[in-house]
Amino acid sequence: MNPDTHYLGNRPRPVGVVEKCTFCIQRVRETPGRYPACVEVCPVGARKFGNLLDPESEIRYIIENKRVFILKEDLNTQPKFYYFYAT
Ligand code: SF4
Repeated sequence: MNPDTHYLGNRPRPVGVVEKCTFCIQRVRETPGRYPACVEVCPVGARKFGNLLDPESEIRYIIENKRVFILKEDLNTQPKFYYFYAT
């Protein structure tokens, strides 16, 4: 087990159980402005992370100006994970 996780992320899971993304809450809350691990390590900047409530944030710009979609939006689970096309 990885000790550098928060209480929801540091639980053993049976084989076949999918981990849920926690947006690395233990990292981003520890140091304001720090990004989730996958955002930091991606060499091409394929992932973006930010405050949806901040109208000046990059994430808001992307959502408002790029082609964006949500997986299975019809289920109305209101996920906070968006996919966007680079162009
Ligand atoms: S933000 Fe990225 S690294 Fe963190 S839990 Fe989600 S997928 Fe994993």
